[in-house]
Amino acid sequence: MPGSQTPSKSARPRGVSILGSTGSIGRQTLDIVRLFPERFSVRALAARNSAEALIEQALEFRPECVVITRESRYPQVRDALAGTGIMVHAGSDHLAYAATLDSVDVVMAAIVGSAGLGSVLEAVRAGKTIALANKETLVVAGEIVRFHARRSNALIVPVDSEHSAIFQCLVGESVEDVDELILTASGGPFLDRPASTLAEATPKEALAHPNWSMGPKISIDSATMMNKGLEVIEAHWLFGIGGDRIRVLVHPQSIIHSMVEFVDGSTKAQIGVPDMKVPIQYALTYPERWPAPHERIDWNALARLDFRLPALDKFPCLGLAYDALATGGSAPAVLNAANEAAVDQFLKGKIRFTDISVAIADALEQLASSEIPDLEKLMEIDAAARALVVELNRPTIH
Ligand code: NAD
Ligand code: MG
Repeated sequence: MPGSQTPSKSARPRGVSILGSTGSIGRQTLDIVRLFPERFSVRALAARNSAEALIEQALEFRPECVVITRESRYPQVRDALAGTGIMVHAGSDHLAYAATLDSVDVVMAAIVGSAGLGSVLEAVRAGKTIALANKETLVVAGEIVRFHARRSNALIVPVDSEHSAIFQCLVGESVEDVDELILTASGGPFLDRPASTLAEATPKEALAHPNWSMGPKISIDSATMMNKGLEVIEAHWLFGIGGDRIRVLVHPQSIIHSMVEFVDGSTKAQIGVPDMKVPIQYALTYPERWPAPHERIDWNALARLDFRLPALDKFPCLGLAYDALATGGSAPAVLNAANEAAVDQFLKGKIRFTDISVAIADALEQLASSEIPDLEKLMEIDAAARALVVELNRPTIH
């Protein structure tokens, strides 16, 4: 829920740590920083592999530290930044350091997958404000993240456009007055493709999202509609609403980013052109709004808004996610890890598009339980589900 913080026009720049700075969300976050060079100060940057991009960003933004998690890339980054005064660290263990520096006010959590969990948890424990793009963290460990956020008073502001929309609709409202959350979905690149041809869908076709330009993993998730499934679980943990009151509505134009229906029959929607920079900026400036030249809706050119119900038989991943949320316990973590592994296999050309949901269903059947795991157990479950997908899903494409 949006907090009741009083807006404060802070004198000193907001210190920002960007975890996953070389990705789609990370780069757009730096675009926002470029719009407000006096009001933000980049304190830390972290990425896995893209040494060149990370070096370039570090030279432009002069953070206190950078982290490259792929250790073999460390010498390149260290040498390029020698003499700049920027500390360079290698390995995933240092992500937590980048997330909790004293000078950091807001952590942009933009690592993809459950690899982002540890650093988000550390930021939460340290009471930072977290601009959360890394939805997988809440899917895997929503309960644990919420527990620590309550203890430390950390504020989590969603970056995901749907959740940013709901968060904005809830400002000034009480969660007791919510009837339903309505998550809109573009439907992805295969919305109108016959189900019978999906087995032949190639990675290139699946990556071609009609409205959004995003990293490869979330693009495939959009094509299977697992993205919306993960978002249902994300919404549950962010707003404390049960899965039975979170509805998915396909809206191909992606103009309405999501809606909240209240108990008195009133519905609020948040609307804008599909541009992630808007929710990214909102998460970084909340509870303030800062003037920016992002594209506005041209109402004259907007001919129509369409809506339809999602086809659960054609996109089984969405149903699997609802089931995992209902089961609780380890099920969402199994769902997420199996999905990450299956998407990876699909992108590598080893399995077919339609094998993704089959692999996840198999993993859920074999591994999911309603018992609530602790963090250590969650990590074991995550690894087991990945291994199972790789082992079960012997290549179907040769
Ligand atoms: P991306 O693949 O473009 O970028 C991922 C970033 O994370 C890169 O900087 C990469 O170096 C880093 N990274 C990956 N694994 C890492 C690891 N093990 N350790 C350290 N760094 C690692 O992904 P993206 O599209 O920017 O998505 C990031 C997150 O934001 C995902 O959780 C995604 O679901 C969410 N999200 C993205 C969009 C979007 O428009 N791209 C929209 C909503 C939500
Ligand atoms: Mg989204």
